[in-house]
Amino acid sequence: MTYSDYKKAFKQLDAKPAKKAKYIKHNKPKDRKHGHALKKCRRCGRQGRGHIDKYGLDVCRQCFREIAAHIGFKKYS
Ligand SMILES: [Zn+2]
Repeated sequence: MTYSDYKKAFKQLDAKPAKKAKYIKHNKPKDRKHGHALKKCRRCGRQGRGHIDKYGLDVCRQCFREIAAHIGFKKYS
């Protein structure tokens, strides 16, 4: 099972508390203090390299490409 966010399964698991506890025990991501997995894109939730923190953007490179012109960036050449 692959979810972008492990909490998505809670909706289904709320009916079975014991299964939910076991699910959390085995699937909860580590609490990170540093590293690329700490940062999530605020637009799509993607975590990984290509994250743009500059100017307080906090988006991944794919989202940046989509919204760059809208938020005022101009592409030269
Ligand atoms: Zn994104």
